[in-house]
Amino acid sequence: MPTDPTPSNLDETVLARIAAIVGSDNIKTEPRTLRSGSRDCFHFSPVLIPQLDQCQADAIVYPATEAELVQVITEAVKAQVPIVPRGGGTGNYGQGVPMQGGLLINTRRMNRIFALTADIAHVAAGVSLWTIEREAAAVGGELRMFPSTIRTSSSAGFITGGSGGVGSIHWGMLRDNDNIRHVRIVTIEAEPQCIDLTTPDALRDVLHNCGLTAFVTEVTFALAPKTRWHQYIYAFDDFAEALAQGEQLARDDGVKKRLATVFEWPIPQYFTPLAGKGACPDGKSLLFLITDRDPAAMASLMAATGATNTFYLPPEDDGARGFQIYDFTWNHTTQWAMKYDSSLTYLQEMFDREQLAAQLAARKERFGDQVSAHIEFVRASDGAIRPAALSIVRYQGREQLWQLIDWCEAHGIRVANPHTHYLDDDIRWFNAGMLDAKRRWDPHQLLNPGHLRALTAQTA
Ligand SMILES: Cc1cc2nc3c(=O)[nH]c(=O)nc-3n(C[C@H](O)[C@H](O)[C@H](O)COP(=O)(O)OP(=O)(O)OC[C@H]3O[C@@H](n4cnc5c(N)ncnc54)[C@H](O)[C@@H]3O)c2cc1C
Repeated sequence: MPTDPTPSNLDETVLARIAAIVGSDNIKTEPRTLRSGSRDCFHFSPVLIPQLDQCQADAIVYPATEAELVQVITEAVKAQVPIVPRGGGTGNYGQGVPMQGGLLINTRRMNRIFALTADIAHVAAGVSLWTIEREAAAVGGELRMFPSTIRTSSSAGFITGGSGGVGSIHWGMLRDNDNIRHVRIVTIEAEPQCIDLTTPDALRDVLHNCGLTAFVTEVTFALAPKTRWHQYIYAFDDFAEALAQGEQLARDDGVKKRLATVFEWPIPQYFTPLAGKGACPDGKSLLFLITDRDPAAMASLMAATGATNTFYLPPEDDGARGFQIYDFTWNHTTQWAMKYDSSLTYLQEMFDREQLAAQLAARKERFGDQVSAHIEFVRASDGAIRPAALSIVRYQGREQLWQLIDWCEAHGIRVANPHTHYLDDDIRWFNAGMLDAKRRWDPHQLLNPGHLRALTAQTA
């Protein structure tokens, strides 16, 4: 395959044609807007900041419909201008950052809900997950899973940039369990095609594609029946105890759950709003749990564990103003940690389901306080519960991070490295099928160039 296209050919004539399609108010070229609108959350990685800090689009365009989008893509392909899709901009690896300028296409005006029942939500790319969760509740449904960024993430941004989140302990990840029923894409061709993908094989080429294979315009999410969720935090004297109890509860299918998260001290001290409410006692490791069990049922379930219940939110407060306990989980944990101490960063791992405690203990012995454990229990595609992790790392340089990653991989802990913007650096996430899909749907390699090592000579 040829290499990525050279820097953008976006000139005044092309801009004028695009402005005629979307209206001049919906195309932006002011330097400040370009800078802020081109960034995502790559600042979570101290390795990525110097690589991506100066990258930005030449224009940001906001189409309202698929028909407008198709016309914009047609113009961009004619002029051979790079195209970068963008939702809420919460991606963590810089995968939505324009590496070669061009047109950043923000989907926030593509916000139609096509159909919403208790079973499915069929929405346009830019509809926020928060909108779906709110609207679904009114018809007796709820999202099966959502990232902790639910309030800002777009539908298409989540299915292309995310992987799972709150709810994954029951429903698994995006690719599992028929969680995503349908995705509609537009190809990046002289005459763009609109294609509906419905089979698991076809969907595999867009789920977690990080905007590299095709432009998503519609998503159909499978929904779950609305549940009355109770939110609890439990404090344990000992991390090993918190882990053992968390794992046991996570594996207990008799207890319906939306979240089971374990934090090793000192992570809880970073959660300042929760600490202010007495939920994070000094030195204690914590278990966060969202379950349908009421306080009386939980009191008897936890009686023998020695844990103290330090925080509770009833179902009436689910989604209410203020915070939810999931606002401190998944990658929000890292956000709180970095806010508390800017030398902190993170890793993303998958531990062995039978060796979790042993692997964590061995890593602690080798790396000490450089790494603190944050475990998110999720359901794997075979139905078993697996310990995913977003460990907090005290950053001492790129070499230390890579040493830690290599050690983890050598000891059976799989790492999805969040400190690279090249999606194909981890072929377990970005599979060879996606490269074939890119050849078919983006033959000129105009879509989100610069994020595939296989297609670029650039090195990290
Ligand atoms: C604090 C924090 C917590 C997070 N927690 C989680 C979590 O719990 N679970 C999780 O999975 N992720 C999590 N993430 C990562 C991120 O939130 C998810 O990837 C998120 O759902 C992305 O949605 P977005 O709309 O912000 O996407 P964006 O950041 O706008 O885009 C993400 C990627 O998708 C591509 N994209 C966007 N729209 C389209 C489209 N229409 N067609 C094709 N490609 C498109 C972009 O080019 C980019 O590569 C977290 C991030 C942060 C900063």
